[in-house]
Order: sequence, then C-alpha cells, then structure tokens
Amino acid sequence: MNPSPFSQIAGQEHAVTILGRAVRNNHLSHAYLFYGPEGIGKALAAKALAKAVNCEERYCPADSPCSSCRKIEANIHPDVEEIRPAGNFILIGQIRGIKGKLALKPLGGEKRVFIILEAERMNTEAANAFLVTLEEPPSETIIILVTRDYEAVLPTISSRCQGLRFNPLPGKAQEKVLIQWGVDPEAIPSLIQLSGGSLGLAKQYLEEGLLEKEQMVKGWLERILKEGYSAVFSLSGEMPSSREEVCDLLDLLELNFRRSLISQIEGKPGVNEIARLRKISPGKLEKLIELVEETKRLIKGSVNLQLAVEVMWLKLIELAS
Ligand SMILES: [Zn+2]
Repeated sequence: MNPSPFSQIAGQEHAVTILGRAVRNNHLSHAYLFYGPEGIGKALAAKALAKAVNCEERYCPADSPCSSCRKIEANIHPDVEEIRPAGNFILIGQIRGIKGKLALKPLGGEKRVFIILEAERMNTEAANAFLVTLEEPPSETIIILVTRDYEAVLPTISSRCQGLRFNPLPGKAQEKVLIQWGVDPEAIPSLIQLSGGSLGLAKQYLEEGLLEKEQMVKGWLERILKEGYSAVFSLSGEMPSSREEVCDLLDLLELNFRRSLISQIEGKPGVNEIARLRKISPGKLEKLIELVEETKRLIKGSVNLQLAVEVMWLKLIELAS
C-alpha cells in the first residue's frame, strides 16, 4: 500500500497519527480545529485530510496521483473548498456560501471538505452563522478550521471542534526538509534559528534572499569590528532607506550576537559564528543585544533613521572594544 497523504507532512507525528487513524477507522469528527504557529504544516495537513478521505485508490502514489488527489492539490475539486479572509475578516457571506453547499450531496467525492484558513478572523456575524452549522453537522462533511491563535477563536466554536495542536518543528526535522529543498548546508543553521521551527517562514526567508542579507550584515559587522569609527560613515551609505528593511537587517545583526553568546555558554564555537565576537564577554554581548533591540524600537518610532543607526554603530564599537 502506498503511504498516506499525511506522510508528506514533516515533524507533526502527533497530529498526523491521530488523523491517519481516524481515516483508517472511519471515525472522523465532523469538525476539526488545527492550531499552532504559522508555517508548520496545518494547512498542508488539512489538504492531506481532504485527499485521504476522497482518494480513489486509498492511497494513490504521490508521484502519480489519482484524479481526486490531483484536483485537490490544484484547488479545483468540486467537494473541497478553502475559505480565507476576504480582506481582514471572514464575512457572513462566505459562511452562507458554505451553508448553501452543505445542503447538497458531494458532487464527485466521498466527503465534502471545507477548510477555513485564519479561522480567528471570522467576524462576530460570521461566527454566529457558523455556529449554527456546527450545531447541526451535516453528514458526509468535514469542516477544518485552521488558526495560529487558538484563544482568538470563539469558545463556543472551538468547543464544538476536535482540537489538534501542531508544534514548531524540532531542528532535526526542519534540517531534513531544508536539505531536501536543496538549501546550502552552511546556511541551514541560520535559517533554522531565524525561522523558529516554522518551515513556512523558512521558505519565505529563502524567497526574500535572507541568506544573502545575512552575509551582507556579517560583512558590515566584521568591518566595524576591524576598522572601528572609520567604517561607520561609509556603512551609512549602504543602509536601505526603508525603516522596515533596516529593522530586518538589525534582526540579523542581533542574531550574530545571540549566536556568539550561546556558543560561549556552550563552550564551543558555533556554526557561522564570527570569530572576533568570541573575544567579547557574555555580559557585553547581552548589552549589544539590548543595544540593537533599543535601536529597533527607536526606528519603529519617528526618530531619524540614519542618525539612530550611526549612534548604534558608535555604541557598538565602544562596547566591543
Ligand atoms: Zn489519491
């Protein structure tokens, strides 16, 4: 037998085992609430559940999917629908749309599956309308709510769903996937640190060229540590002009200090660590982290951007010497 569609989801053994067993025993809830941080496989698992219950071969091979699984993957299956906020909220019109379809039998598949993404964004009207649906669950239907914020879902709704927690991926699991994605092995530790166990975030960072940015920030730091004050003004010219972009770069700068702090505590050189930072005491590294944090706060306010960054470099030289 081919592996189930859940086998494609990395690092969520707990949730995936429960779902796989429910499908096998035909013991599915009519409503699920998948919750946990962003980008760790909740929406993927929802799609996998839709595939598992509608698969024509139970299960078709991943490299040659059946027509049902192919349609679900392409978001064109008539019985599987993803609902996401229209603007800031999920609106009552969208919930009414679901209710209208619930009255009908599944068109092609075994079960109708509605996946409601960012379910915490249902406005009150929509949530109340949805509640009625949950109270009279139609057969042959599975509703999957997906949220990063369990607390923000109305208790009257969450209590009527089977909750399934998804956890941030452990480093090892994330590393395995990043290797599969073909990420440069040297860059993997940084990516794991920055994305905090979220593959979705790791993917976004890769698309945004984060690793190149990290190299750039490292170069700056090495220059400042080596050349001191004379490097400050030439670096000013290399800073982007958007506050948001500068804050992103400062996150990366801070990461260098954190990395060195951790490696000193652990007593061994860290991967990607700047050697010169090892000469700075843990106490001073903590101060450097505070300095960057404070600069980010200032930049998010209305302070002059260039000035704030220059002052930060100057203080940094002082602390690091
Ligand atoms: Zn299939």
